[in-house]
Amino acid sequence: MPTSPSIIDTRRDQMFPVLEPFELERVRRFGKVRSYEAGAALAKVGEVGPGLTIILAGQVEIARRDELGHSVPIVTYGPGSFMGELAQLSGRPTLIDAQAREPVEALVIPPDQLRALLIAEAELGERVMRALILRRVGLLETGAGGPVIVGRPQNGDVLRLEGFLRRNGHPYQSMNPETDADAKALIERFHVDTGQLPIVLCPRGQLLRNPTEPELARCIGLLGPIDPDRLYDVIVVGAGPAGLATAVYAGSEGLSVLVLDCRAFGGQAGASARIENYLGFPTGISGMALMARAYNQAQKFGVEMAIPDEAMGLDRFDGAESGPFVLRLSNNERAKARSIVIATGARYRRLAVAGLEAFEGSSVHYWASPLEAKLCGGQEVALVGAGNSAGQAAVYLASHVAKVWLLVRGPELAASMSRYLVDRIAGLSNVEVLTQTNVTGLEGRDGVLEAIRWRQKSAEEVRAPIQHLFLFIGADPNTDWLSGSGIALDAKGFVLTGGDCNESRNLLETSRRGIFAVGDVRSGSIKRVAAAVGEGAQVVATLHAALAAMESKLPVA
Ligand SMILES: Cc1cc2nc3c(=O)[nH]c(=O)nc-3n(C[C@H](O)[C@H](O)[C@H](O)COP(=O)(O)OP(=O)(O)OC[C@H]3O[C@@H](n4cnc5c(N)ncnc54)[C@H](O)[C@@H]3O)c2cc1C
Repeated sequence: MPTSPSIIDTRRDQMFPVLEPFELERVRRFGKVRSYEAGAALAKVGEVGPGLTIILAGQVEIARRDELGHSVPIVTYGPGSFMGELAQLSGRPTLIDAQAREPVEALVIPPDQLRALLIAEAELGERVMRALILRRVGLLETGAGGPVIVGRPQNGDVLRLEGFLRRNGHPYQSMNPETDADAKALIERFHVDTGQLPIVLCPRGQLLRNPTEPELARCIGLLGPIDPDRLYDVIVVGAGPAGLATAVYAGSEGLSVLVLDCRAFGGQAGASARIENYLGFPTGISGMALMARAYNQAQKFGVEMAIPDEAMGLDRFDGAESGPFVLRLSNNERAKARSIVIATGARYRRLAVAGLEAFEGSSVHYWASPLEAKLCGGQEVALVGAGNSAGQAAVYLASHVAKVWLLVRGPELAASMSRYLVDRIAGLSNVEVLTQTNVTGLEGRDGVLEAIRWRQKSAEEVRAPIQHLFLFIGADPNTDWLSGSGIALDAKGFVLTGGDCNESRNLLETSRRGIFAVGDVRSGSIKRVAAAVGEGAQVVATLHAALAAMESKLPVA
């Protein structure tokens, strides 16, 4: 069977550019020259490397590790080539091994200087940034350098961990102990009961038994401790489009920024299979691709990320009229800032049907990404919802599954879905729309759905042998964590801003001075990616004014 070409085959020149001698001279000011003996390791999987490394003399062998830890050569670098991928932008652990084949002289550029280079050297910086991104894409294709998840592919916890890593753009590999002799051997070696699966092997050899997402993130170096004494200019809570836009604009204007998200970057937009109405992308773009660009862009401007980390509450720091503010985080950590931007968006509504929770890990889905499409490949699925997100998901799934049953509570789709999606659905022979239909029951065992029951108007109840149910039925604001903070909310729990809460407040400022709200979480906001991004950009101008006002009131040190 023909396999699709890898990114190394199709984009080799952009992945592995060679700098000209005059370009090497230009970048020397950003780094320090170091020498390595033949055989020395310049980088090791799982360890934080020294930064972007440009080879000045000698040759360096780059290799990845397969799921059993065997070394697989990727490329050999000579003079003018540079070693590094996205991890070097933020000082995270390396995903490859690098060894000097012969005596090597190299210019080592640490993460902060790499970010300075990308900004100061526009043309060269663009080529370097593109190479870093493409190399990460190449590692994602093979899963190299990431953790190895051992467990049955349909297991809810395997799906949870895979989903977390995929949504955070981190490579991983999976092994099924039922079909893979090496996975079986691994389980025996670590004396793991099948009931304790999945296990995760981290690149530095640690073994985790069915970890939480924060445990896994800490083990692979995605998440580090937060310095409780550091005072950030702004902490952005939520890394959806609104939070990431705030971070990019604030970071690019020199503010110190920390972004927190309890799940992954991208928010709801990251769940969108194809965004077709975002300016500048006439052929559409997947939400994940758009959000990954924003996430990398924010890090280029020095923004710090803490993902997954949840804001649990907001304290007043010293009783003053405005900041600094202290955020209480999960894991009993604290973070301190002169201003806060609330960008916590909304969370999906759940269907009121008995037993739903039992199927949520493996059979009930709130996203329609390639992961879910693969899981349902060739089967019939049911999808509940009538908004644009439901329409997009139905169109996307239709090209991967045998049939989509689109269950709509109201009398017609056009009342809540954009015309282009209604028309597209009408043209798909494997999507059947049932209006005035409600799900009445779910049947299954051990978390695996076996059948769905529904009723259309007052007709007889229908029982369909369907194993996957997708829910796209709207969202509620993520504002529970603000209870007791004094931030004023509207009747539905969305955050009030500007004149809606207090005449003296700036646009996008909440009832507490120095605390702002942007995007879907804000009362009256337009629930669109472009609107969220616009508010993220806009809030930074207001922030500057608030910080300046605060500065003038602070005691002189
Ligand atoms: C499937 C789907 C398809 C869509 N398609 C389109 C489209 O095609 N075009 C369009 O314009 N719009 C689309 N939308 C709407 C669009 O995605 C949203 O309007 C947009 O994502 C809102 O951005 P936001 O940053 O305000 O919030 P969100 O995207 O909701 O992001 C909020 C983030 O905050 C995090 N968070 C929440 N609480 C906490 C906490 N206490 N601590 C830390 N982090 C927290 C969440 O994990 C989340 O990542 C779609 C939505 C969905 C669900």
